[in-house]
Amino acid sequence: MRILVLNCGSSSVKFAVIDTENKESLSSGLVENIGVNGHFKAKGPEGKAEFHFDCPTHKEAVVEVQKFLTAQKLINTIEAVGHRVVHGGKYIKSEPVTQELIDYIRSIILFAPQHEGAHATGIEVAKEIFPGLPQLAVFDTAFHQTMPRKAFLYGIPYSYYEDLKIRRYGFHGTSHRYVSAEAARILNKKPEELNLITAHLGNGSSCSAIHAGKCVDTTMGFTPLDGLVMGTRSGSLDPAILFFLNKKLGYDIDRLNKLVNKESGLLGLSGLSNDMRTITQKAAEGHTGAQIALEVFCYKLAREIGGITMALPRLDALVFTGGIGENSRVVRETTLENLAILGFKIDHQRNEDNGANSNHIITAEGSTPLAMVVPTNEELLIALDTAEYAKSVK
Ligand code: ADP
Repeated sequence: MRILVLNCGSSSVKFAVIDTENKESLSSGLVENIGVNGHFKAKGPEGKAEFHFDCPTHKEAVVEVQKFLTAQKLINTIEAVGHRVVHGGKYIKSEPVTQELIDYIRSIILFAPQHEGAHATGIEVAKEIFPGLPQLAVFDTAFHQTMPRKAFLYGIPYSYYEDLKIRRYGFHGTSHRYVSAEAARILNKKPEELNLITAHLGNGSSCSAIHAGKCVDTTMGFTPLDGLVMGTRSGSLDPAILFFLNKKLGYDIDRLNKLVNKESGLLGLSGLSNDMRTITQKAAEGHTGAQIALEVFCYKLAREIGGITMALPRLDALVFTGGIGENSRVVRETTLENLAILGFKIDHQRNEDNGANSNHIITAEGSTPLAMVVPTNEELLIALDTAEYAKSVK
């Protein structure tokens, strides 16, 4: 079945057409700068396209996607639309698009201000442009809804959870779900037999503890700011630092928000870049800021992995994924060194090859736990969920 996967951001729309039978991407692309001067870039079976166009809202962006897919002779083959939604609030699994769902997403805008409004608008526009197709929303938070109360509650008065739903939600759930299932498939085990830590390391990063195929703890929290040090995000922080900066430097909420979301992480620590490629390269050349950023990133990662490992009865494998997890040998090696207490024994050649010649495994023969590199594919999982739903309503 051919599925259009849409990911509507605040000023962008990413799309892909996935064939769920052979799991191939037939076409993919991106509209950026919505509201300013739209920039379209995409490829498909008939060729590539790149141009600027008048794009005041998401509607013009999705129309342009539709026109491109028409020119690529794909439009009439698409049978359903799957939407990526960052925050699913109360939803514990992927949900069919209804007006009630769109209204609910709008009602939790404050949970993820940069995403939820754009998702709701994008879904509305897609309903209008593809009225005959079944549509499904797939949430980054849904996979984490199996966390027990002891893992999802913060240590603040319980009434804040009851009244305002302040709790750990967790994000990147589609990726954690996909790579944990892939790891089981690769290891020829049933998900029920495995205890895994999945480390999704990209511009945003998070780890999850997965017991018998279900998430039991995760490092991101009420928002995607919690947990690990990221590209520009601080990760978890003593909240009193914010009170201090308010009193000492007069920082208001907006200034603090910018500090912890845009100016921190690898960028803030290195004073150089949020990009791990640059950080590892400059660290190797002796740049002190890059060395500090790399050290803190890998130590904090190991510390958080150690923390959530306690949610599991034993650890079978640590699975690296995301742009950094799939590619950065030095991050994996340093993190595994920091985690020596858990028994990892790295195989340097396997790590160098990203596990390509050793069934994704980068630890030495006989090492327990295993460490693995498993490329993520969130779009494929969204497409597979959507195809299953579309078949059920046929
Ligand atoms: P996003 O979270 O936006 O999806 P990605 O998963 O693509 O991001 O990850 C982006 C990160 O991956 C960047 O920090 C980038 O530097 C890093 N990365 C990509 N390739 C490499 C590489 N070969 N070595 C080190 N880091 C890499």
